[in-house]
Parts: sequence; C-alpha cells; structure tokens
Amino acid sequence: MIKNCEICGREYVAQRSTAKYCSNRCRLMAQRGVAFNGELEAPDVRVSMTQEEVLSLVGRAHDAASDLSRASMLTPAPLCLSLKAVSQKLSDALRAEGL
Ligand SMILES: [Zn+2]
Repeated sequence: MIKNCEICGREYVAQRSTAKYCSNRCRLMAQRGVAFNGELEAPDVRVSMTQEEVLSLVGRAHDAASDLSRASMLTPAPLCLSLKAVSQKLSDALRAEGL
C-alpha cells in the first residue's frame, strides 16, 4: 500500500500496515525527535505551482506550526524541546516572508 512518511512526507510503498516511515533514516529521526529539523529536501524547482497551491501550502505550514507548538506542550523532554524549536523556526520563517 502507498503511504506518506510521517517524517519527510514522501510517498512510499509500505510493507506493513503499521509502517509509518519510508526508511530507516526517517524511523531513526523519529526516534531521536528531530523530525522536520532541516532534513527536508527542497522541492524540484522545475515544478511550478499555482498561487492557490502555494497559499494552501502556506496555510498548512501555519497549521503545522501551531500543531507542533501544541505538541511540544504535551510531549516529554527531549522531544518537546525539538518540537518547540521547530515550531518557533517555522513561525519565524513564515513571518520573515510576510506570510
Ligand atoms: Zn521519510
């Protein structure tokens, strides 16, 4: 079955229905609590997006930032610290771009 990796978001073929990650690398990152920590690959620049697609992604980024911020309050250390830092970086990045 095709699933989306919880860490990098890429689609992958899951061997088991309980699989959450595309690779050992992503599974390890999840265990270490460093999801979204600068490991995402830049999208292919040859692919152009419509303005609606970009705006919907920006909306999802805002949602992700607030989800991460909420998660950081409900998660034990050290994961909470990573989540907090990432949500802060995400909000800062969005604000810096005027989004
Ligand atoms: Zn992955």
